[in-house]
Amino acid sequence: MASVLTLADLDRWSFEGTALAVLGFPIKHSISPAMHTAALSEMAQSDERFSKWTYVRFEVPPEHLGEALRRLHAKSFYGLNLTVPHKVLACALVEEIDPAARPIGAVNTLRRTARGWQGFNTDGYGLAKAVQETLGLSLTDRPIVLLGAGGAARGAAVECLQRGCQSLWIGNRTRENLDRLLSDLTPLAKNTVLRGFDPTQPDLPCPPNALIINATSAGLKSDDPPPVDLSKLDRPAGVYDMIYNPPVTPLLAAARALGIPTANGLSMLVHQGVRALEIWSEASVPVLAMQTAAQDAMRLR
Ligand code: NDP
Repeated sequence: MASVLTLADLDRWSFEGTALAVLGFPIKHSISPAMHTAALSEMAQSDERFSKWTYVRFEVPPEHLGEALRRLHAKSFYGLNLTVPHKVLACALVEEIDPAARPIGAVNTLRRTARGWQGFNTDGYGLAKAVQETLGLSLTDRPIVLLGAGGAARGAAVECLQRGCQSLWIGNRTRENLDRLLSDLTPLAKNTVLRGFDPTQPDLPCPPNALIINATSAGLKSDDPPPVDLSKLDRPAGVYDMIYNPPVTPLLAAARALGIPTANGLSMLVHQGVRALEIWSEASVPVLAMQTAAQDAMRLR
């Protein structure tokens, strides 16, 4: 089998063990197979059943996601990860959605049920673990400045509110998208201060000592301007950029120049993957094995 599979490969797919896969479009650059394979190989040393687990990648265009989910179910796949552009689309295609994922409106992990798929979202968990591990900061009781109003920002915002952040300030380029997100979040916010702002305005209203989270795509290209001017924010406690390629975005470079602690999104990718494998395996997952595999895969790029 080729390292990137397509639905055409399913015709001759046969595997006696437990099959897992990541679906995306494009998918060639995904490092999830390296992470999960490393973890499963370590888990197999103490539990023989994991030696019969495999994790592959499928390139699936969004218009074929429904067909892909049906055929992968028919071929007895047990677990799926979903990446761009499938996370929101899948919500309408699965049989059940984990209650914690419902307010997000996006799923990144599917587990097989008798009738179809149950959807989970492990991105928020991954973010919370990553921020704690890399910056030593908790989302609880802290002011958060979140940049972006797309799918990743939505998951981050729900996690921040569910974990009891002190306040949540969301800045986004397009006001309409920001307003839609704020309106969806309002029922979850309860007594937490929830505000939107224009990140390009001259004076930013955000509170001091906030954790800044970048959930925009600004920074994927090295000449992207940072999504906010950090010098306008009052003493940020740290900057977490969900982007991990490039490892230092213009936002992280600006933060470093100001002496603000920083971390990129590789740790979030690792922890969302750990949680997904825990959901499928119901076993303890070796974080270090996944982390090392992710770092090695990034070095090889
Ligand atoms: P979406 O396309 O859903 O949202 C993109 C967001 O970025 C929107 O808020 C958009 O604003 C904003 N944006 C795009 N370009 C710019 C720009 N040049 N300047 C300012 N804002 C901009 O993407 P996702 O939410 O799925 O992903 C966002 C980022 O998070 C990606 O870089 C992705 O790689 C990363 N990510 C990382 C994960 C990890 O595990 N580390 C997991 C998930 C995502 P507007 O509304 O104005 O268009």
